[in-house]
Amino acid sequence: MSERAAPFYCPYCGDEDLRPSEEGPGAWECVACNRAFRLKFLGLLASGLRSAHSDGEDSTS
Ligand SMILES: [Zn+2]
Repeated sequence: MSERAAPFYCPYCGDEDLRPSEEGPGAWECVACNRAFRLKFLGLLASGLRSAHSDGEDSTS
């Protein structure tokens, strides 16, 4: 997977009309609501496996 992650929807208005911003890498602009935002990958979650495993939690209690 490349370093750049492309958002499919605007996190503010949900529109799909996004374009890369001139602000720098990871920056996007929403044409619909005129908002600019930046996506940043923070890292993998250590609790990722645990949360997936907790699906059967309801049946045990
Ligand atoms: Zn928007």
